[in-house]
Amino acid sequence: MKRLVIKVGSAVLREGTELAIDRLNNLVDFIAKLKKEKNFEVILVSSGAVASGNTKLNLDRTKILNRQALAAIGQPLLMKYYKKRFAQHNINCAQMLLVADDFDSRKRSANAKSVMEILLENNVVPIVNENDVIANEELLFGDNDQLGAHAAYFFDADMLAILSDVDGFYDSNPHENENAKMIKIINSIDEEELKVKHNPNSEFATGGIVTKLKAANFLIKRNKKMYLSSGFDLKNAYDYLLYDNHNSGTLFQAKTSI
Ligand code: ADP
Repeated sequence: MKRLVIKVGSAVLREGTELAIDRLNNLVDFIAKLKKEKNFEVILVSSGAVASGNTKLNLDRTKILNRQALAAIGQPLLMKYYKKRFAQHNINCAQMLLVADDFDSRKRSANAKSVMEILLENNVVPIVNENDVIANEELLFGDNDQLGAHAAYFFDADMLAILSDVDGFYDSNPHENENAKMIKIINSIDEEELKVKHNPNSEFATGGIVTKLKAANFLIKRNKKMYLSSGFDLKNAYDYLLYDNHNSGTLFQAKTSI
């Protein structure tokens, strides 16, 4: 049985000031298929809590405390939509809120792992997010790409799949350069690329491509794979994850990994 962590970015789950329910539903349907047709165990790392909270209350998102308040409002809303759609597939989902520190402490990560195993054994889809109200830079990952990478490693997944607003990693930013070419397979990451200041694509996003490269670097070094593909149109993710056809999207993997 394969274990997969899927991370979905906030740009995918938001449409203007509303939650993109259609895309959320498509994602849940995809996960249900992966479970039923491939027998995958799936852990979902979902962004979108701040954007979701923002549909109920308008606060200045440039202030970190406001973003945390919005996340506190948005997290249960987000879960409500996930729960509703998963229920249509007769799948239970669960909420797991973690902070970076949980992965530093062996005791805590072992505990979270034990809980995770019980959930997966029982066919539940754990939905992981950062515990945003724990206001401390040292405690927080700050972006779900890193959280996804750590979750994939500590929860023994075979792969992290990032479903983003971009459909792969390009030789330059495809939103700025129309001649940018997608790189389908990457075996190692140049340390210099990890030093670039991160530049998320929207005011709700906390990532940007650098955090995805950092996540990939973390996993490549631990001999795990990462796949980056579009969360808007799941066709390529279906092709690769469900039908084993790597038509598009970027696969990051160490040369030696099988
Ligand atoms: P998410 O919300 O999924 O975390 P982000 O919007 O934070 O995603 O980051 C992805 C964005 O990074 C893309 O939309 C693109 O504009 C930008 N980007 C910069 N350089 C590259 C590159 N070389 N390849 C792909 N995307 C890039």
